[in-house]
Amino acid sequence: MPTRRELIRELTAAVGAANVLWRPEDLLVYEFDGTIERQAPHAVVFPAGAEETAAVIRACNRLGIPITPRGAGTGLSGGAIPTRRGVIIATARMRRILEIDPVNRLAVVEPGLPNLQLSEAAAAHGLFYAPDPSSQRACTIGGNVAENAGGPHCLALGVTQNHVIGLEVVTAAGEVTWLGNRVPDAFGYDLRGAFVGSEGTLGIATKVVVRLLPLPASVVTLLGIFDTVEQASHTVSAIIAAGMIPAAMEMMDRLTIEAAEAGLQCGYPPDAGAVLLVELDGLPGPVETQAARARAECFENGAREVRVAQDAHERELLWKGRKGAIGALGRIAPNYYILDGVVPRSKLVEVMARVSAIAESYGLPCANVFHAGDGNLHPLILFDERQPGMPAKVLAAGAEIMRACVDAGGSLSGEHGIGFEKRDFMPWLYSETDIAHMEQLRGVFGNSGDFNPCKLLPTGTGCGEMAHQEAALRAAGPDAYV
Ligand SMILES: Cc1cc2nc3c(=O)[nH]c(=O)nc-3n(C[C@H](O)[C@H](O)[C@H](O)COP(=O)(O)OP(=O)(O)OC[C@H]3O[C@@H](n4cnc5c(N)ncnc54)[C@H](O)[C@@H]3O)c2cc1C
Repeated sequence: MPTRRELIRELTAAVGAANVLWRPEDLLVYEFDGTIERQAPHAVVFPAGAEETAAVIRACNRLGIPITPRGAGTGLSGGAIPTRRGVIIATARMRRILEIDPVNRLAVVEPGLPNLQLSEAAAAHGLFYAPDPSSQRACTIGGNVAENAGGPHCLALGVTQNHVIGLEVVTAAGEVTWLGNRVPDAFGYDLRGAFVGSEGTLGIATKVVVRLLPLPASVVTLLGIFDTVEQASHTVSAIIAAGMIPAAMEMMDRLTIEAAEAGLQCGYPPDAGAVLLVELDGLPGPVETQAARARAECFENGAREVRVAQDAHERELLWKGRKGAIGALGRIAPNYYILDGVVPRSKLVEVMARVSAIAESYGLPCANVFHAGDGNLHPLILFDERQPGMPAKVLAAGAEIMRACVDAGGSLSGEHGIGFEKRDFMPWLYSETDIAHMEQLRGVFGNSGDFNPCKLLPTGTGCGEMAHQEAALRAAGPDAYV
């Protein structure tokens, strides 16, 4: 077991003293992400690139110290929480756009780049980066790769997996390698594909090659206003059944609308039961035709009004409400627990009713804001963590909601990942053999359990030593590390 002093000496040798945090007050902000769980690391390091990242990983492996990669910490499944303490490797110093290649329509970026900055830079070339998580002002491209992030505009264009063509990676063993490259659809085993969505359990992405798309020639954004979530849900199915795949189709329920309007003044009617934000893009003619059809489907399914954004400012305002809705819910309760289930679109109405019933049975308010077109639900349970026993109650309600999604033929995550929080639910969907294969894949990248431990795979795979480590810590005294 290394002492604190030994660990800091090794980390300092790898990245320099200015890029190592270890004082408790400096570590406070690294003990959580967007979820309920918390754990403080022993140290946080900020490498400048692949070589320094590799040096940190090799030092930690030598000392037997757990490692947790971290981007912006906006994750919603506990992926960046250092569950077994140890060292957080943060990508905040790797945030450059290294290249935008308009001819080949790609960009090479560092992993700590905030998502939105990529599209802002690409716009100068008439291009954009499609995956647009609602957290895109803060979340990083590296975090998006690890979580296979989605966003409102992934309905037609697909999630991160479809937009990353190559990765420079430092594996859990501390080796620098490339997975894929600048040419899409490389032959052989798709290790790039395996890395995207691996939730920081195989290594750290230190460069990312992404596909850029041309900005659409024309965009129409409309807001369907409904009395009930059921009407809005039927509209979602009707629009898809009519042969359209809008760029985005996002729903918010009454509680969310109230909070968003009060906090952001975006023009939503606060007395509506649900709103559906539909965006269509492409060539002007077909887009106008599709918008008229989508509008008609809204009315056909009971909309009391459909507003069409008249200019970029109005469109921005409508999106401001959607993208800021989760933060705005802070007006109602100091904490939220956001779930991320997927259900077949045809089951939206049924599962939403079940979600409400579960929340009600626990006496917990629940808001809903979600990517309706994908059947990707985000029930947000609102609570105050200072109330005794509340986090456990919220987690129990969350587990029931996830079970309801799976029972409806759905899945455990559409975009936020499994992380720490849902790892024990994996056997609901995967056999022992499946899970064993996933565990073997970790081994291929050199992860024997200490690289982002207790994430993605069920307890026991990488978490077995927890109790043992805590006992060792107590026995070794205050200067010990693990
Ligand atoms: C208000 C709000 C709205 C959100 N909306 C969306 C949404 O619409 N769609 C969506 O998909 N998500 C959404 N999220 C969730 C979150 O923003 C995404 O999961 C995002 O991809 C996380 O990025 P991050 O940089 O914050 O990563 P972190 O939270 O720091 O880390 C997430 C995971 O990635 C790993 N990781 C980080 N960087 C690397 C790297 N370079 N290499 C390897 N592993 C790494 C970490 O170990 C961890 O497991 C939302 C979150 C919030 C708070």
